[in-house]
Amino acid sequence: MQPLSWKRSAFLEFGKDAGALIHSGQVVGMLRFTLLGFPVAIHWFFWVNVALLGGAINASSPRQIQMLAGWMLAAFVSVMIHELGHALAMRRFGDRRVDILLYAFGGLARGARWLSRREDMMVSAAGPALQLLAGFVMELLWGSTRFESAFLASFAKSFIHVSFGWALLNLLPILPLDGGHISRAFLGQSRLRLSLTISLVCAVGMALYSFQGGGLFVAVFFGMMAFNNWRELQGQPQVPWMEGR
Ligand SMILES: [Zn+2]
Repeated sequence: MQPLSWKRSAFLEFGKDAGALIHSGQVVGMLRFTLLGFPVAIHWFFWVNVALLGGAINASSPRQIQMLAGWMLAAFVSVMIHELGHALAMRRFGDRRVDILLYAFGGLARGARWLSRREDMMVSAAGPALQLLAGFVMELLWGSTRFESAFLASFAKSFIHVSFGWALLNLLPILPLDGGHISRAFLGQSRLRLSLTISLVCAVGMALYSFQGGGLFVAVFFGMMAFNNWRELQGQPQVPWMEGR
């Protein structure tokens, strides 16, 4: 069986993943538009999550709110560029039905065409690659600029941080992150258990490392991935809302 058809069967079987639920029209509060020909849907919980990560609970002064708004815009644009990287690569490989979804845990660019292992690896790498490039361009343009506006200063700084951080984090060989997709496509379907075991070990390691460093939110995030990898190794359905690319 090929990587994507495997993904399809998982998708149909569990049926409750983020993409299926949101595209079923059962979810309210979705922002929908088209970008470069790709239908885009953004779930309201994406904004809540980004706001919480940006310290929305402690933002009270006008300056703090401007900084929070700068962070939220930067995170949105950077994650969008990441997903566009995947979507453009899929289109490059002949897929004419690609859509993009941003939800609580990040983004998902979904295609309809079967991908070879090599194409799957390139599609997975294209997201972090375009995002890293965007981070470098921003660093060159605005990296040393001193802005009067708290909003612009926060936007430029956050964009660089998110672009490098999100791209590098996504390259870890953990499923469902991009690095996990690359590792799974590289090892092939016959060594699926090996890629899942690598993913599980790395996810547990990252959860413990984040927990020690005080990053409880990130620790829970990796813990959920480890739990899903474990369930998949046991042949059990995974917890929904953890799809990614
Ligand atoms: Zn990605």
